[in-house]
Amino acid sequence: MCSEMEMPTLCKECRGWFDLNDGKPSKDGRYQLCQECSEIDNSNNPDY
Ligand SMILES: [Zn+2]
Repeated sequence: MCSEMEMPTLCKECRGWFDLNDGKPSKDGRYQLCQECSEIDNSNNPDY
């Protein structure tokens, strides 16, 4: 069992586990994404 994470959260994009403290809310703020996916999401965003 992995007990490294304080707040294990499932990323909706890559379906991997990440620590809530390292993630960011999605664009609409309805769920959390891992840091990697939130960065991809932002860079794909045309209204930057
Ligand atoms: Zn992810």
